[in-house]
Amino acid sequence: MRQSKLFTKTAKETPKDEVSINAQLLIRAGFIDKLMAGVYTYLPLGLRSLEKIKKIVREEMNQLGGQEILMPALTPKEIWEVTGRWDKIDVAFKLDGDGGKQYSLGSTHEEVVTPLVKKFVKSYKDLPVAVYQIQDKFRNEPRAKSGLLRGREFSMKDLYSFHKDEEDFSDFYEKSKQAYLNIFEKCGLNAVIAEADGGVFTDKYSHEFQVFTENGEDIIFSCETCGLHRNSEIVKEEKCPQCGGGMVKNKAIEVGNIFPLETRFSDAFGFSYLDKDGKEQPVLMGCYGIGPSRVMGSIVEVNHDEKGIIWPESVAPYSVHLVSLCKESADIKKADELYETLTKQGVEVLYDDREGATAGQKFADSDLVGLPKRVVISPKTLAEDSVEIKERSSDKVEIIKIKELNSRLF
Ligand code: ATP
Ligand code: MG
Repeated sequence: MRQSKLFTKTAKETPKDEVSINAQLLIRAGFIDKLMAGVYTYLPLGLRSLEKIKKIVREEMNQLGGQEILMPALTPKEIWEVTGRWDKIDVAFKLDGDGGKQYSLGSTHEEVVTPLVKKFVKSYKDLPVAVYQIQDKFRNEPRAKSGLLRGREFSMKDLYSFHKDEEDFSDFYEKSKQAYLNIFEKCGLNAVIAEADGGVFTDKYSHEFQVFTENGEDIIFSCETCGLHRNSEIVKEEKCPQCGGGMVKNKAIEVGNIFPLETRFSDAFGFSYLDKDGKEQPVLMGCYGIGPSRVMGSIVEVNHDEKGIIWPESVAPYSVHLVSLCKESADIKKADELYETLTKQGVEVLYDDREGATAGQKFADSDLVGLPKRVVISPKTLAEDSVEIKERSSDKVEIIKIKELNSRLF
């Protein structure tokens, strides 16, 4: 992508109405734009990162056996009355339609997915089933001051699993934990599993995936001896409930959450199956949420410095920032050629070919945008058939021959 063609621009000033680091940096670097509190547009660079995160999520969900679907975000009041959640979910956005009809914008989808899967699953032979979607969720969050960490419209991957017995459910639930850990690792996040309350989903426990950072909204107690983590919403202990060791507390961001739903929703919708003996049995369910947009915000919270973002390779919008300081047409031609060659070879390159910008502005923008590698091409380096290469996460600058570049980018 030629930066001269990018319709967005970077900004020097920190947006006054944003207090979170992720929103400040993502807006300044031209990744997102704020429409109102908790609601953002993804600009070309931001959308590329978000899509890369979703791709990682998809791969792991498919690997787990999940089948992708897309459910409606506009849902009728009646389905929420079946489970008694119309008045229980206090963050639900509700709408009035014609003829006294009422709707809710999907804040979660158990009420849609349970009757959906019920239509197709009749016998033990049809189980297990796991379906997921990646869709925008709507929640009227009272405090939406944390940029992508707490949106009122935000991206969520929600998977729902259906099982014939506890053993089959537990097996899947444990596998989902590993899939989640894989996702966060691939996104460059160090997440731990914490025990937590089940909220409006279940009376039972749930498991959260937490990333420790000073800007997190959650407080996690961790045992210094056995490594148990618990969300402070349910526990205020000084001693570890598992081994009696001392507990320390730290702030963290919840990036994922998985819940055993047991028969809470299948009972409400009368969803049962026929076992081997033709006897009716209740279907056991689980739900598994992850927020790609919150993951994107979290990545920025933990990977930045005073100059800007430091993207992990896997989720960076482009992997190389090719910065041209060339002014003469013969040099510009060489820079253009390098851009085209690399792009043809499959390297994802953002090419700073802007003519009006100074070297200082280009370097500052490159640090702000934070692509993993910066390659500078200038009259000085070209005189020796070379370029300058530097990783965003390091201060080391190297001069290498252009023909050696390939071996450094793959
Ligand atoms: P929180 O306690 O932070 O409000 P939650 O427990 O209500 O979140 P879940 O219903 O468990 O959230 O949603 C599953 C996942 O969706 C979360 O782990 C998080 O990654 C993401 N998520 C939830 N709410 C938001 C939000 N308002 N903005 C961005 N992502 C969100
Ligand atoms: Mg949660």
